[in-house]
Amino acid sequence: MKNLKTTRYAILPDNIWNGRWSRSKSGYAVIVEGSTIQAVCAAEAVPRGLKKHRFPGCTILPGLIDGHVHFCDWMRPGFLAAGVTTIRDVGNDLDWILERRRRARTNPSQWPNILCCGPLLDGPNAHWPFMGKAHADRAAIEASVKSQIEQDVDAIKLYVNITHEQMTGAAEVSRRYGKYILAHLGNFSAQEAAAVGINEIEHLCGCAAAWKESPIEGLNALCDDLLPSGMVMCPTLVVWDRIARTNEPAFRQDKRLKWVHPAFLQAWENFPNRFGAAEARLKLQRNVVEMKRCLAQMQERGIPIIAGTDSPFPYLVPGFSVHDELTQMVDAGLTPVNALRTATSRAAEVMLISKQVGAIAPGLQADFLITDGDPTKEIHDVARVRQVVRHGTLLKTEQLRRMSARLNRQTAEDPVSRDILGYVSAR
Ligand SMILES: [Zn+2]
Repeated sequence: MKNLKTTRYAILPDNIWNGRWSRSKSGYAVIVEGSTIQAVCAAEAVPRGLKKHRFPGCTILPGLIDGHVHFCDWMRPGFLAAGVTTIRDVGNDLDWILERRRRARTNPSQWPNILCCGPLLDGPNAHWPFMGKAHADRAAIEASVKSQIEQDVDAIKLYVNITHEQMTGAAEVSRRYGKYILAHLGNFSAQEAAAVGINEIEHLCGCAAAWKESPIEGLNALCDDLLPSGMVMCPTLVVWDRIARTNEPAFRQDKRLKWVHPAFLQAWENFPNRFGAAEARLKLQRNVVEMKRCLAQMQERGIPIIAGTDSPFPYLVPGFSVHDELTQMVDAGLTPVNALRTATSRAAEVMLISKQVGAIAPGLQADFLITDGDPTKEIHDVARVRQVVRHGTLLKTEQLRRMSARLNRQTAEDPVSRDILGYVSAR
């Protein structure tokens, strides 16, 4: 019976960016009551006697959202330490991830908010045995979509081996139930996905034809085709960048690797793309440049973009890789504010959770990232984490470090670990 008396306090940073404004502002305080934001007010209007947490030289932002994760238990403290307070799992064993979502709801100050899709719904052959699910035909995938919606998943995710018929059927069932559907396309273009009613594309799959023909005209034509459908993009530039440059020595010296499970550090060292012909890696490196051009054009044309990372693929430190993704977006030409929106207000709107998270406004959950400097002016400041607040609780990094050390001593045998560790050892 703790919290008999609801705690109430004020946060006084130098700057606040509420997730929606076009710039940060100064002179504001945020008042938290329990797990909720009670008010955003002028700093001098904070009632006398209220406990005050001052953060000079700092900016407060909404807690970040990673829209593309394959969750494992060991990743939890890293997300929180990086200020990533909401994650969307886009491919996992259904029962396993539903149980994690339930634990997160029961014990929110120890977990990020979790949204989930259940397994990667695949075609006749499932690419990943544990986080994916094979379907012989259209009827089978329609039955899976229906059953997952009945189990209250937050969205549906399609995977690379689906047939056109299966993609059409899955999108139809999702639409009938009003459920959001996203796809990692293998065989189809973004336009074909839009035509059958897919709501979101991962990794910019199905877009490459546009920039291969003629960069500017091709991308404009692609945007013309996608805009009417409201198609959302989750580009995950950072996973492409890491896979393209797995041999980069700087990744191995990253101090943030201490948050990563040792079995994954070893798997990343042995990730297949490190070996073999250089030509494959160089091609991918060139593609990353084209993807950045594509993303900048999509932002310019008003295609909705949300941030995702694909953690735990190589050298994506859970949570911190969101900082890296935002930096990649700014490198592509987005302004820092537009990049930050992809991981806050825009992501929350797309995921239909904007009444709970993604902004700093009265009535929303008290999930914050407080950083040194001002990430709305200098995106690198997003990584200068000073304090994270989750569900009204000011988290202590030392406690998260201990949680991480404890989880990293356990064997990684959850569905995602089995798939990724198995994939590497099979090579
Ligand atoms: Zn993924």
